[in-house]
Amino acid sequence: MSARAGIIVTGTEVLTGRVVDRNGPWCSEQLRALGVDHESTVVVGDRPADILAALNWLAAEGCALIITSGGLGPTADDLTATVVGEFQRREMVVDAPLHEQIAGILERFTARWPSVDQESIAAGNLKQATIPQGAAILEPIGTAPGLVVPPPEGSGGPTVVVLPGPPSELMPMWDAAAQTPAFIAATEGRAKIEQSMLRLFGIPESEIAATLRAAQADGIAIDELEITTCLRRGEIEIVTRFAPSKQALYDRFVEFVASTHADTIFSVDGTTIDQQLAALLSGPPLRTIALAESCTGGLVAARLTEMPGSAAYMRGGLIVYSNEAKSKLAAVAPEMIEQHGAVSEEVAVALASGARSVLDADVGVGVTGIAGPGGGTEQKPVGLVWCAVSLASGELVVRKLQLPGSRQLIRDRTTTVVLHMTSRLLRENST
Ligand code: ATP
Ligand code: MG
Repeated sequence: MSARAGIIVTGTEVLTGRVVDRNGPWCSEQLRALGVDHESTVVVGDRPADILAALNWLAAEGCALIITSGGLGPTADDLTATVVGEFQRREMVVDAPLHEQIAGILERFTARWPSVDQESIAAGNLKQATIPQGAAILEPIGTAPGLVVPPPEGSGGPTVVVLPGPPSELMPMWDAAAQTPAFIAATEGRAKIEQSMLRLFGIPESEIAATLRAAQADGIAIDELEITTCLRRGEIEIVTRFAPSKQALYDRFVEFVASTHADTIFSVDGTTIDQQLAALLSGPPLRTIALAESCTGGLVAARLTEMPGSAAYMRGGLIVYSNEAKSKLAAVAPEMIEQHGAVSEEVAVALASGARSVLDADVGVGVTGIAGPGGGTEQKPVGLVWCAVSLASGELVVRKLQLPGSRQLIRDRTTTVVLHMTSRLLRENST
């Protein structure tokens, strides 16, 4: 890939983390799909000098295309268009048809808010219709138009695509932006790039590093692939980017990883464990599921019900935090809790079968553990979790986990483990 691009995300709310950036990653994926090399994303506050500095830096880095997000609103603190005009040495001019178009949009808006100050509406209208001379206009979704601002004639500088901040306004403008002559000219050297992902579970990252070295030693030229590994939610993701001409090499690499880690690789097509489990439960044959969660407090249920269509198989989840709830809701005998303790193999198994029978499901899941930071003992330290999954047909898996880390991490990791245990048990008993 030779066409390079940079992204500038503006907004003090994004800089400080009050709003999580959704535009940078989304634009990055669009650039990749077009074969444009995304170099960096810079996040700056709503300060013109900082936006200008970011533009200058990305231009100096050799970006032929710069995307900005945010700061196109009607108020005086929204300054991106003006700064980009200055950067491209283009005069700011009122675009008459745009002025009229925005006025039309505002009319519909003020009809719903009759008390708003007409003068400030008019000022905002004029501001949003004031654009760098020669810029291509992208149809407003809200009131703000997007802009594609070409570099000054003969300067060799970057084209700047100016998009609004709200993701629901930015995303629909992308295709129009990508079709403008200035965008196409700036991304002339683009070349198609494939991206594929492998997912593994239950293996340390260091083993993957060793596998990569072994693959290279085995004659698979992995240095011709762009491989990144990342540990996320207890799973390892291996993302590879490669030119279409390297497909055969990538296939060999996948084969090597799959045979080296046959026990731990669970996805070669980018699907998540959540999607795989949803497919297994949907069937055919359809298998219904019920949960009794103590330390995860509904997190497993939340992951399951995040999937569209989960109503077909999800019977329900019991949050059985207290011993009383374990007995009353999931039919665990109080004597069993008394004898073995709430965090025990016996209780995990009883929770799984209790959830199954109380909610009349084919699959039952039970989770009980100590998420901390308090509540641990020498015999039962923080991070000890028992998970059980059982089927109405009698099959059962139980796992004892001893997880490190914070309360949040323990609860999250347990949830992932439970999804994997359930998926594996269903796969092994799929007929
Ligand atoms: P507006 O006319 O709404 O002011 P704008 O183009 O000026 O549009 P901003 O003021 O920068 O956009 O952002 C408006 C809102 O859009 C923010 O308060 C935030 O909720 C959302 N937003 C902005 N940038 C992002 C981002 N990078 N990721 C997610 N949400 C964002
Ligand atoms: Mg704004």
